[in-house]
Amino acid sequence: MSTALPRTVSIFGATGSVGTSTLDLIRLDRSNYRVLALTANSNAKQLANLAREFDAEVAVIADTNQYGTLKNLLADTSIEVAAGPDSLIAAAALGADWTMAAIVGCVGLPPTLAALQSGKTVALANKEALVSAGGLMMAQAKQAGATLLPVDSEHNAIFQCLQGGRIDQVRKITLTASGGPFRTWSREQMASVTPEQAVAHPNWDMGAKISVDSATMMNKGLELIEAHHLFPVGLENIDILVHPQSVIHSMVEYKDCSTIAQLGSPDMRIPIASAMAWPERMVTDCAPLNLAKIAKLDFEAPDYERFPALQLARNAIERGGAVPAILNAANEIAVAAFLKGDVQFLAITEIVSRVIDSYSPPEPINLADIFEIDKEARERAIAMIEDARV
Ligand code: NDP
Repeated sequence: MSTALPRTVSIFGATGSVGTSTLDLIRLDRSNYRVLALTANSNAKQLANLAREFDAEVAVIADTNQYGTLKNLLADTSIEVAAGPDSLIAAAALGADWTMAAIVGCVGLPPTLAALQSGKTVALANKEALVSAGGLMMAQAKQAGATLLPVDSEHNAIFQCLQGGRIDQVRKITLTASGGPFRTWSREQMASVTPEQAVAHPNWDMGAKISVDSATMMNKGLELIEAHHLFPVGLENIDILVHPQSVIHSMVEYKDCSTIAQLGSPDMRIPIASAMAWPERMVTDCAPLNLAKIAKLDFEAPDYERFPALQLARNAIERGGAVPAILNAANEIAVAAFLKGDVQFLAITEIVSRVIDSYSPPEPINLADIFEIDKEARERAIAMIEDARV
């Protein structure tokens, strides 16, 4: 990666939790970064404010209905305004030195692939894209000579733990999991969970979708699939360990039984800063770790019965082919329906499981296949939700 400064950066999903944390870090070191593209889905006002503040070259809004609003808000600037999915891809193809992929959902896949195609550095938060199209994305990165840096705190931790070793020296990777807000709840208690309860994560402040995923532990399932692509040590060598304090973000055990762990306060700006400055380190204003104050770190085995999403994800990797993309698409629909109050909390993984069992498309070989699988899984999930309502 070019370390020449100022470095050009683009942020996809700039108005979200990861996007704004990334911009917070840039605020600390403005002179070293030049912002090319900032994007959002529909929040034109926030996008316009950010584009102005960071003097972006391009502001792209995915929702074309918001184009006029964004254009008006930036009328007195020289910032180029664009809208729609193709404009997201065009913005990614500008080839920023460093791109943050922080759109939520598989919809972030095309711009992420376009950014990888430019052969530069992509910091990946958008796990759904990797879950749905892992093989394709890793091949694209390799072919283009791009650098893919994981931002998810667990994968960033593993990436850091691997800096002193090689993947072929690894015996086991342990993904830690907070266990989410319902770690100690029975299935009966979880039956009446509200969206407000599900998005209230005990340790992390995140967007609504990933917060619900953490509550069902589908987030850990998606991360298992993510880890399987990023760190090819074999599924049987990737464990999940519940660690409620979210201080150890993941661990790598080498062949000699030395275990290297990465620790830090539960603040996404820490893994983002690591990906942003890599291979250097940057100064942040994050809270340093105070282990004397934390005093105690707890661990427990994950409960696959109360959190069936974990097994669904393991099975999805084992079955391979279209299954991870189906799992992801059905989950996106089920989580959105839960947040709208259309389905109960426990129905989320039930819907995912039923959609996976309902059909077996052939293995995807290109992006069009992935989109077809994604589309059909969404339609099936929506139909199931609608059927359950009548
Ligand atoms: P948020 O919901 O906070 O933000 C999502 C961003 O994506 C917003 O900028 C949103 O724009 C944009 N967006 C939403 N839908 C679309 C669309 N259809 N087209 C284009 N842009 C869209 O999510 P998070 O920041 O929490 O998460 C982003 C990604 O990072 C997810 O994949 C998540 O799993 C992953 N991640 C998040 C972590 C966290 O701490 N939040 C930790 C690790 C990974 P708008 O504001 O206009 O809606």
